[in-house]
Amino acid sequence: MRHAEVRIVGQGLAGTLLAWACESAGIRFHLIDAGHRHAASRVGAGIINPITGQRLVKSWRVDALLGPAEVMYRAIERELGVPLLRRLRVRRELRSARERDIFAAKRLTGELDPYVQRLPGEDDAFRIEPAFHLDLPLLIHASRERWRQRGALSERLATAAECAGSDVPTVACLGAGEVPLRRLALERVKGELLHLEAPAAGASPLPPAGGGPEIRNDGHWLLPLPDGAWAVGATYDRTALDLEPSSTSRALLMTSASRLGEGVEWQVRSALAGWRTSAPDLRPVAGWLPGRPGQGVCNGLGSKGALIGPWLAQQWVEHLCDGRAFDPAVATDRVGLQL
Ligand SMILES: Cc1cc2nc3c(=O)[nH]c(=O)nc-3n(C[C@H](O)[C@H](O)[C@H](O)COP(=O)(O)OP(=O)(O)OC[C@H]3O[C@@H](n4cnc5c(N)ncnc54)[C@H](O)[C@@H]3O)c2cc1C
Repeated sequence: MRHAEVRIVGQGLAGTLLAWACESAGIRFHLIDAGHRHAASRVGAGIINPITGQRLVKSWRVDALLGPAEVMYRAIERELGVPLLRRLRVRRELRSARERDIFAAKRLTGELDPYVQRLPGEDDAFRIEPAFHLDLPLLIHASRERWRQRGALSERLATAAECAGSDVPTVACLGAGEVPLRRLALERVKGELLHLEAPAAGASPLPPAGGGPEIRNDGHWLLPLPDGAWAVGATYDRTALDLEPSSTSRALLMTSASRLGEGVEWQVRSALAGWRTSAPDLRPVAGWLPGRPGQGVCNGLGSKGALIGPWLAQQWVEHLCDGRAFDPAVATDRVGLQL
């Protein structure tokens, strides 16, 4: 093994999955995390949806990444003894003639296979399956508790020297934290969502046809949460400099929740905001910073962290164990990533 020990700075989704991958590969690790106050993983909805966006695009590499991601989350569930991953389906409403045309054309070419099915008698909606909901807050909190008890976690800010990895090889999983943003062309995109309650406690406003939990999506999504509440999201704002939930986003999301919930009069339980990070080519980033062996990064998970995170962690572990090169699509020396 080339690296028997690693320091992981940041215990959001990226750092948590990397630590789990190290644990199962027998690599010693120590985590440093300042607390999750600004972590995207405290906010993120944890949806894994194979077909996203107005142009109904297959998520990047979903065919290859979905199976291994499920395997990793199931293994973590077994270790922690808590339910983390729910299999769901998505009801995707087609809201415009343009979306209907895109769907018809892509369905003809088979581009969206094997994830889409027509809904009998419906031209304005189709089903996406399988989709998943990862309970992100539970994953990072239950994992944190495990590593706190084992003495594998320091709960504080990492120093610049620790992030630089001059003593121990270090992987910075800092999300929108400053270090990688200063060296790499990673952008912050503010996102907001609302947690909602239906007026009648315990009564689901939207029993899906055919049973089983269902996400509704028409550009925004409405997600049933495991505790009976719902979430609606998410906004994208590339210009915002703050992390305060805004009244504009709240109004926009309430309109979407009402539309997707077919008129349910929702009560807002909480409004959440976080930063996603993304590279100019919208691909994640994994590897040593150019010219700085020992100072690694795992970042740029964008809005697909739950799908991509397990694969990035695996890339890191294979590199640490065997020196395997990172996939060129995520490598830190790729064109356009350096500042
Ligand atoms: C509104 C919204 C909705 C989203 N919905 C989805 C979704 O449905 N599906 C999906 O897959 N993804 C979704 N995402 C994206 C997902 O949340 C992120 O991809 C993921 O959480 C990023 O994890 P991370 O570990 O890279 O960063 P973070 O979660 O931000 O973690 C970074 C950690 O580093 C720590 N840190 C930073 N600097 C230091 C330092 N100097 N010293 C010590 N610790 C430090 C922080 O405390 C933090 O805990 C959403 C994001 C948002 C904002």
